[in-house]
Amino acid sequence: MFKNLFKPKLWKPFVFENSKIPVWLSKLAPIDIWAVSFFIFVFCRGEMTEETRRHETIHFQQQLELLFVGQWILYGVFYCHNYLKYRNGPTAYLQNKFELEAYSMQSVEGYLETRPRYAWARM
Ligand SMILES: [Zn+2]
Repeated sequence: MFKNLFKPKLWKPFVFENSKIPVWLSKLAPIDIWAVSFFIFVFCRGEMTEETRRHETIHFQQQLELLFVGQWILYGVFYCHNYLKYRNGPTAYLQNKFELEAYSMQSVEGYLETRPRYAWARM
């Protein structure tokens, strides 16, 4: 359990599968949410695939490097900026720098082990 204590890059969130939280959040969000990463937790509607697990762990790492609150604020800022630019909720979501990193790297095996800090900033 503590073998990666001094390697935060390898820290993983606590995962809750078959959760209702993504269902409830989808009523407020511009997209249908399958899984969501919040603080040290990930909630998924069903069972997580390796890709979904990597996607959400990338978000967990993004939050860690911005001390959580910083990522939540920036996520909202990027979303609003994109919404004004594209006038479309799903596009504003997909063009968010945090999502661009997560979607482009979710299928790359070993990405989390080699991921550069603040990789989203270069998206
Ligand atoms: Zn995402």
